[in-house]
Amino acid sequence: MSGRVCLYSGEMLGRYGFPDGHPLGEDRQAAFLREANARGLDKDVSIVVAPRADRAEIERFHTRSYVDRVLHAEGDGTEFLDNGDTPVFPGVYDAAASVVGAGLDGLSRVMTGECRRTFQPIGGLHHARRDGAAGFCVFNDLGVVIETLRMEHGVRRVAYVDIDVHHGDGVFYAYEDDPELIFADIHEDGRFLYPGTGHAHESGRGTAKGTKLNIPLAPGAGDQAFSEAWTRVVAHLRAFRPQFFVFQCGADGLDGDPLAHLRYSPQVHAQAARSLCHLADEYAAGRLMAFGGGGYNRDNLARAWCGVLRELVSV
Ligand SMILES: [Zn+2]
Repeated sequence: MSGRVCLYSGEMLGRYGFPDGHPLGEDRQAAFLREANARGLDKDVSIVVAPRADRAEIERFHTRSYVDRVLHAEGDGTEFLDNGDTPVFPGVYDAAASVVGAGLDGLSRVMTGECRRTFQPIGGLHHARRDGAAGFCVFNDLGVVIETLRMEHGVRRVAYVDIDVHHGDGVFYAYEDDPELIFADIHEDGRFLYPGTGHAHESGRGTAKGTKLNIPLAPGAGDQAFSEAWTRVVAHLRAFRPQFFVFQCGADGLDGDPLAHLRYSPQVHAQAARSLCHLADEYAAGRLMAFGGGGYNRDNLARAWCGVLRELVSV
């Protein structure tokens, strides 16, 4: 698979979903794969099934006590891992550890050159904090990947780019004072949408001031507003010459998402992916991992993510 794009999918990843009509249901992976196969994209990628992460790997980002809480949640009869958004479901620990495992396997293959880039449709759980779940996110696979880049690969200067409609608060606040985590996030204004953060003035703390770019958009904003914001994202990334690119491409900013109020077309996701592939080629020896993130209208997530995957394959 040398130089191929690796797509992470499989039964265990498909189980990361909540029951009883929860917006993040178990059917999202299948909805994406149906569209990817219909477009013939499956022929252009290597499909990889990864082992789940072990707890030492998960604890690169998360606290030991939180990992324990998830591990014992079913046995303890815990109903929610947070204040009500993220319910415990059968197999929750294994499913969440599988999402992290896919991220780590992808990272390892990108670093050895076995994969050129990866797409992790069931991944990008950007709300989870080091010590807790939040917003449908149990373990923060993105945070574990970032920690592993530093600890195992000596890669310090990492770009984290997030176009999910929600602010990537779990990543932002974990690295708010880290000057080598180059952060750029376009999202619906927190005055109107969960999690309520990501204000333009939040640009990093201390020596990290200026390394974080938050761009809130007003409800109803569409492709034109995104394009203008994206120009700022590219300038921000170029200023810091990142050594690795992490891309969270949540599809919940598309017109018709049931949880949010932006009005992107799927072109937004393709445009961002294409642009990041070029930047990764220029600064990071091509090293880029893309994560699906949110997206609750199944047709929308299928179209947006297939657009991303097409760019990852062809740029
Ligand atoms: Zn989201």
